[in-house]
Order: sequence, then C-alpha cells, then structure tokens
Amino acid sequence: MPTAPYPRRKRVALLGATGSVGDSTLRVIRAHHEALELVAVAAHGNADKLLGIARAFGVRHLALYDETAAAALRAAGPSVLPPGAVVHAPGVEGLEQLATLPEVDVVLVAVVGTAGLRPALAALAAGKDLALASKEILVLAGAHVLAAAKKSGARLLPVDSEHSAVFQCIEGRAHEEVRRVILTASGGAFRDWPFAKLAEATVADALKHPNWSMGPKITVDSATLANKGLELIEASVLFGLRPEQCAAVVHPQSIVHCLVEFTDGTMLAQLCPPSMTFPIQHALLYPSRGRRGTDQALSLDRLFTLEFRPADEGRFPMLRLAREAMVCGGAAPAVYNAANEVAVAAFLAGRLPFLGIARVTEATLAALGNARADELSAVLAVDAEARSFAERQI
Ligand code: MG
Repeated sequence: MPTAPYPRRKRVALLGATGSVGDSTLRVIRAHHEALELVAVAAHGNADKLLGIARAFGVRHLALYDETAAAALRAAGPSVLPPGAVVHAPGVEGLEQLATLPEVDVVLVAVVGTAGLRPALAALAAGKDLALASKEILVLAGAHVLAAAKKSGARLLPVDSEHSAVFQCIEGRAHEEVRRVILTASGGAFRDWPFAKLAEATVADALKHPNWSMGPKITVDSATLANKGLELIEASVLFGLRPEQCAAVVHPQSIVHCLVEFTDGTMLAQLCPPSMTFPIQHALLYPSRGRRGTDQALSLDRLFTLEFRPADEGRFPMLRLAREAMVCGGAAPAVYNAANEVAVAAFLAGRLPFLGIARVTEATLAALGNARADELSAVLAVDAEARSFAERQI
C-alpha cells in the first residue's frame, strides 16, 4: 500500500539560523523535507550565510537583527534575494514579525542570550508552537512564557537536549510521581582541572569542549557549569519542579541526557549521541518521531562505558550560585543570567579572568537578587540593572 502523503508540511520559522543550533536545524529540515518546510529565517548579522540559507531552501521571509547588515541586504534587493523574498525590519521587531507570520506553524528560537524573549512571547500569543533552544528566556521570564503558552494553547517544546530528554521520560506520567529530575553535565573543558589551576584558564582553554560543538557563549557556560545551572532553573520552570527536585550529575560521555527518578525509586534515562539533531528533530516533528534520525543512532556493537560522578560545587561555584538563585526565586534567576552573560562576554574579550565570572555573578546576586519582579516590565528592569551592575564589577 502506498504511504499517504502528509496532509501538509509543518512550516518552520528559524530565529538564529546561522549559529550552531541553526546549522543542526537545517540538517534536520533537509533530511525531513517531506514533513518540514522552512519559511522564515533570521540571524544576528551574517548576511551572506543567511542569504545562502534562504536561497538553498527557497525562504521568502528574512530578517537581520543588526541594522547596518539589514539595510545592506535590503539595498542589495531582488538581484541577490530568492524570488519574492522580503527583508523584514531589523532588531527585535523583525524577529517578532517572522515569529507571527500567518504561514508559520512552529517557531524555533535559537538566539544567543535573551534577545529572543519578545519574539518567543509573540509567537506563543499568536498560537504558534515554540521550540525553545534559548534557555536564558525561561530563566529570565519563565512564568510569563508558560502563561502565554497556556493562554493560547500553543505548545512549548524543549530543544535543550537535557530538557528534551526529561520531556520524553515523563510524557504521559503523573506529575506527582516524579520525585527528582537529574540533568547530566559533560563537565566541560575543565572537568578534570584542579581549582587552583582554573585561575589561569584562558579563553582558548575554555573553548575546548570535550563532546559538543557549540557557540562560544554556551561553551564557556559549559566550562563554568553555569550552563547546567541555567538548565536546572530551566527544568524547574518547564516541568513545575521545586528547586530540591532538580539536580545535576557529571557524565563525561554525554550519552545519557537525563535521569528521572520516580516516587518508587525507579529511574528512567534517555540516551542518544551528543548531537543537537536528536532534540531538534523531536521538537519539530512532535508528536511524531519521524522515520529515521538525521545522525546515526548509538551502536551497541562495540563496548562503551557510561560513567557518573557527583558535580563538584566547590570547584564550580556557578552551579552553587544557580541553586541559590533558584531557591531565592523572584528576580534572582534573572540576575544570575544577566550577570553571567555580561561576565562571559568580558571573559571572551579578555577583560575578565575565568574565575572572575563567578565572582561578578556572586556580587551581582548579593546586590540585586532579592529585587521584586512580578510583572514582565519589572523583570526586564532588573535584567538591565543587573547588567550594568555586573559591568561595573569588571
Ligand atoms: Mg543542554
């Protein structure tokens, strides 16, 4: 019997198309072109790469965050753009326009940092499913994102590998039967470095991630374990868990992405190779799994070992600070995120030593962590205040 054709392909807007998650998303869309169609792409400022993507996929809606790059692309006009293509506004406005296009079904947000917050909220308000790779958005304004999804009935689909893993392990199970969620951490570039040596860690050292190939911000976050800290906060928001129900464990192989412990003491784990195409495919094709993966599945034909060891909060103070921010609640997670973003940028620019990232974050949390932040406008004000406070500590 011939297979029935899909009634219609799912139409995807990809915000952050030229980054590392963008690359993996394009591979998934290409491999599943019978089910997925790319209709809108946005990037920060890499016009050439964005244009190449738009041409390859016949995309008609483009946006560049950077004003100069957007103006140059618009000026170049029809001679370089795919037929019928439009260049939308620069800045957040253009991202919002793409996220709410009538022809879009699902918006994948893979924008570095928190610039994707307003587009993500706009997408949910317009009833679009949101595939979320930018964890900072949930850390900054988790309650507001959840409320927007609930109001319109749109789905919130995690793209972060650990959260995709938890989503898969708890799907269809009663919330009160989940005792704990344990996220695995590769341990990053400094997994085996003693604390004393971390004082001399360079940018080049921090960017040598053992397992994952990602952008510079998240690779530094992996080296400090701030990435895991942000992910613990993200998990508590996404799955409605108390701080003590969210834990991290170091797992050097990055094959098990989470462990979920249920009330009877049983644990379920999710395993797949350390490639973002697995969680991206899960989010974009959900609730279907698709006929095949983009990357090879794990092979059990040869010996492999899975190791687990406790995460050391003494050596990695950013993990301790994330837990403290989560327990404090209110504005503290947003302050943690803002201070970390500023400190990592300064570290990457050679203006701050590696251990300065935790020092700046701790000082900013001590100063502003107890601020009230119920309204979204108050959260954004605290975010801005934390950024300038952190900058002054550098
Ligand atoms: Mg992750």
